[in-house]
Amino acid sequence: MVKSIRRKTPTVEIGNVLLGSDHPIVIQSMTNTPTADIKKTLSQIHELIEAGSQMVRLTVNNDDSAKAVPSIVQSLRKKGIETPIIGDFHFNGHILLNKYPGCAESLDKYRINPGNIGKGKTQDKNFESFIKTAIKYNKPVRIGVNWGSLDQELLAELMHQSPERSAEDNKNVIIEAMIKSALQSAKYAERIGLRKDQLVLSVKMSLLEDMVNVYSRLAKECNYALHLGLTEAGGGIEGLISSSAALAILLHQGIGDTIRISLTPEPGAKRSLEVEACKTLLQSMGLQRFKPSVISCPGCGRTDTSLYQELAKDIKAHIKKNLPSWKEKYPGIEALTIAVMGCVVNGPGESKHADIGISLPGKTEEPTAPVFANGQKVAVLKGPKIKDKFINILEEYIGKFFSSN
Ligand code: SF4
Repeated sequence: MVKSIRRKTPTVEIGNVLLGSDHPIVIQSMTNTPTADIKKTLSQIHELIEAGSQMVRLTVNNDDSAKAVPSIVQSLRKKGIETPIIGDFHFNGHILLNKYPGCAESLDKYRINPGNIGKGKTQDKNFESFIKTAIKYNKPVRIGVNWGSLDQELLAELMHQSPERSAEDNKNVIIEAMIKSALQSAKYAERIGLRKDQLVLSVKMSLLEDMVNVYSRLAKECNYALHLGLTEAGGGIEGLISSSAALAILLHQGIGDTIRISLTPEPGAKRSLEVEACKTLLQSMGLQRFKPSVISCPGCGRTDTSLYQELAKDIKAHIKKNLPSWKEKYPGIEALTIAVMGCVVNGPGESKHADIGISLPGKTEEPTAPVFANGQKVAVLKGPKIKDKFINILEEYIGKFFSSN
């Protein structure tokens, strides 16, 4: 398993979640329902938590959403769900938090965007009011800078300092402004009285190279806990790949304490895909395990049936169906690795490297499928019931090697 050395950050307590370099990277997500619609919002929170989200953020943008927050949080807590709920505030957070103490009290963390809380002295006054509420209710705060809503006064000031610029210089000034905005706001919050271990920073940009650049520089300049995310990453395969690539580069350098993969969902699609994406990223990087891994080959001209494709799919479905009960019965089951391979070229080798694996026959090979467990050949399957026979062997293996009795 690849171990990255985490950049040292303080532990931030967010409800029952501990975030920082002494703790596993925390997966978070955000609802896209109107928060004032309590039923819909609760339903989506449940979906996200069931998928594995360890914190969920809600939009709090008006009176109705602020009024809805206590009911949403109480409903979760009554069901024994302690997942921290975070309020996402822009423009009027200082007003809503003061006007609705129930909302301020119920939330486990607040997010503020220093780029849209006012200008000049008003910005300071509003920011101070926001932070003082966080101090009053003992809540941590994320200072979330986003290049789409960057503090324009700060940006103009930095642009003014270097009037002769190339396009690349412009980008560097934006990056500098983002870092400055995050750090100046964090220092100001500390001067008001928030502790360093109550602060999380993010500096989100929408292009991979920019995001890696801005976070790498920010990471060198401070030791605040960092929330990683590529903003406006889009949807579908583009959103998944660009977010995963950007996050992977930073996580591999040990940068990042909590992650979100923001995806534009397909109409009607589940919001929880972003949570699945985070889990898959952390597991593929060897940073955390959530479920057994299935290693399968892409197939090529050596395979003339779709058997190995079907078997790989069926094994994944079998894992998905059985994982909740396996987790109860078989501690450490998440570490299991299963290989499903298409021919003799890499099949036996990969199967031997996995905990358990099957090498299906290629086009010109004898129609038999050797099964390997812990590097040893334990069976040779043939006939139409290969899938059922392999699943039986897999279940026996799990019972033998993961049972706590
Ligand atoms: S293991 Fe065999 S079938 Fe699979 S990709 Fe390699 S050569 Fe092709």
